[in-house]
Amino acid sequence: MKRRSKGSRNAIRRGRKPRRSAGSGILAKCIVFCVMAFAAFAVFREFQPVGSKTGQETAVQRSVGPDGAGPETEGPVQEPNASQQNVGPDGAEPEMKEPVQDSNAFQQGAVFSDMDALEAGSIFDVSGLSQPALDSFFYSEELPEEVQQRMVGSSYQENGNISLAELRYLRVLHMGFDGNTHIGELVVNQSIAEDILEIMSQLYAQSYPIEKMVLIDAYGADDERSMSDNNTSAFNYREIAGSSKLSKHALGLAIDINPKYNPYVKDSGTGELLVSPANGADYADRDGDFPYKIAEGDLCLQLFQEHGFAWGGNWNSVKDYQHFEK
Ligand SMILES: [Zn+2]
Repeated sequence: MKRRSKGSRNAIRRGRKPRRSAGSGILAKCIVFCVMAFAAFAVFREFQPVGSKTGQETAVQRSVGPDGAGPETEGPVQEPNASQQNVGPDGAEPEMKEPVQDSNAFQQGAVFSDMDALEAGSIFDVSGLSQPALDSFFYSEELPEEVQQRMVGSSYQENGNISLAELRYLRVLHMGFDGNTHIGELVVNQSIAEDILEIMSQLYAQSYPIEKMVLIDAYGADDERSMSDNNTSAFNYREIAGSSKLSKHALGLAIDINPKYNPYVKDSGTGELLVSPANGADYADRDGDFPYKIAEGDLCLQLFQEHGFAWGGNWNSVKDYQHFEK
């Protein structure tokens, strides 16, 4: 009895009708299965195209980023929109940062606009680039926001002599002492921006070695520190050392090239030489023969003179062999 009543309850629950025959039971199951299968297919069809596209984008963009394979690969069908929104910024950010952190990665497939993302000082692989492509790496622009932030309170202070709007940010290529092409940056007065671009372009074309060229703000706008690191730089709002007169550097109208090998030399009057930077003392005697020396016959000196610049090596009271001004 017990078994039967249980059996009949089951039959009622399942089909709402008592079991009549084996054939009608199978038919009912068949119909239920078909309805469910159709419903499942309809749901699948609706989501499948978006889901698979999202999945593809996720895969492609992720391969760019540093994350590698994420754990959420099954997810996109359920939340295609959320997935799409997340992928955008996540994918784009590493694309911007990658070249900065690893110049070798950049060498594999260079896109010219990515040069902006490379920090000054980076080694830059120019193999296979045409002359017009190389020329495009020499340009000037109004000081970008990011550059102004580096300068204000460091190489630039509020003053009545020069505004940020009168200065230009230059990007160039230069041949390092290591024989590699480096990205260089300078801030100069807008009135000499074209001169400097032409000179730097010609120096690079002739493989003239310049060791470093980053803004003096990398050295806290400390001239001695920048010079002793042999950094080539231009704008720095400061007075001439040991006087209250503004330096031409304060107006962005002067540039110092390879300063350690071409130091500022002053006779103190007692026969003792003041040399700046101090670690350039070995190069104060200009009769000696050593590399990177700016002297008569030097290409750098020749180009600056052709563009109407005065050379500190020609001064009488002091000698400033690194210095060119207009
Ligand atoms: Zn100088």
